[in-house]
Amino acid sequence: MQTVTVLGSTGSIGVSTLDVLARHPERYAVYALTANRSLDALFEQVKVFSPRYAVLADESLAVEFAGKLAKEGIGTQVLSGEAGLCAVAREADVTMAAIVGAAGLLPTMSAVEAGKKVLLANKEALVMAGPLFMDAVARYGATLLPIDSEHNAIFQCLPIQNSSSAEQERPFSKGVQRILLTGSGGPFRTTPLADLVGVTPDQACAHPNWSMGRKISVDSATMMNKGLELIEACWLFHTDASNIDIIVHPQSVIHSMVEYIDGSILAQLGNPDMRTPIAHALAWPERIVSGVGSLDIIAQARLDFEAPDEQRFPCLRLAREAAARGGTAPAVLNAANEVAVEAFLSGRLNFVSIATVIEQVMAKVKIVEPLTLADVQQADSDSRVCAIEIITAKTSA
Ligand code: NAD
Ligand code: MG
Repeated sequence: MQTVTVLGSTGSIGVSTLDVLARHPERYAVYALTANRSLDALFEQVKVFSPRYAVLADESLAVEFAGKLAKEGIGTQVLSGEAGLCAVAREADVTMAAIVGAAGLLPTMSAVEAGKKVLLANKEALVMAGPLFMDAVARYGATLLPIDSEHNAIFQCLPIQNSSSAEQERPFSKGVQRILLTGSGGPFRTTPLADLVGVTPDQACAHPNWSMGRKISVDSATMMNKGLELIEACWLFHTDASNIDIIVHPQSVIHSMVEYIDGSILAQLGNPDMRTPIAHALAWPERIVSGVGSLDIIAQARLDFEAPDEQRFPCLRLAREAAARGGTAPAVLNAANEVAVEAFLSGRLNFVSIATVIEQVMAKVKIVEPLTLADVQQADSDSRVCAIEIITAKTSA
């Protein structure tokens, strides 16, 4: 029996994780559930899973939540704030890192530094702190498994999937030639370019194949999600961005591919449902049922592929530039993106300006080699301040 903490349990990945865990009560016990402010959703989850701890990131809500639990006679202990998140992240056997954005960095690192099994959905944490994050994985002997469907697919197609962390280094020395990172192209793949400036948050969040949180949905519409995933893949698979091709595959049936020097290309296919990579990572190296139905490949009939259009998706170029610059450049890219996406979602910025704001922030904020997480957090906060200034100047112009 393994104990599991689900960071961000009320989100899209969190809910899918609990769905898989509920299918295997003999294997997994929920240790802790966490949310930012979604009291009601967290309350319902606590009633079903009876975790030892429930954590509210927003400290001001913790007392109210504890009162709600006490009234129902529920014994779950309530913790709050970053300290609470970090504590439950390091105490369970397995931690699912499914907080969205930079807010997930410290809790995820807490699980890594405790040498635990870490299931990484929170790609922003790895993008921001790549070298420090991967050093910590090696130093503390953590087991890092990718939840992002593309990275989970690549992991399944690599020759290293059943080996120890040490052997997972350098797949490119074992006959791998290229990683083909697939992405659907999002809801605006064929929208006339002139119409992009007027698209609404709801249109951007209506992803053709996946149902996800709003931030990652907008990232999919700009394809910044694929840019972040490019950087994520470089760290996870110990390679350079030049060995990774981004391929637009509108059906999201192939979740990514790996090419070998003998000409073989291995792909992982399945219905677009995050419970597959979640179940894979939870049970790895074993397999468990996930609740996902089998792919009807005959009904599917065709799979299309095209090259990404960098004029339509300038965020891809910005992410490649950040990957090439290294240091704190990916943290700057990520923070500027988070602020711009938030401004778009709240109606203060148009869709096309998301990329413009990120480009301007990247040109302004100084890039350094981060020696500690504090350096990464400094880059993150400097970029946020800069992005807010740029957005404010735009909206008051
Ligand atoms: P979501 O918005 O649905 O859920 C986010 C979760 O994080 C919620 O539980 C929320 O309460 C919590 N949260 C938000 N802000 C927080 C804060 N400041 N402090 C603490 N907790 C906070 O997001 P999601 O779609 O589930 O995505 C979660 C992560 O997984 C993201 O990093 C995303 O890129 C990644 N991911 C998601 C999918 C998907 O299909 N949804 C696929 C691949 C990767
Ligand atoms: Mg993905």
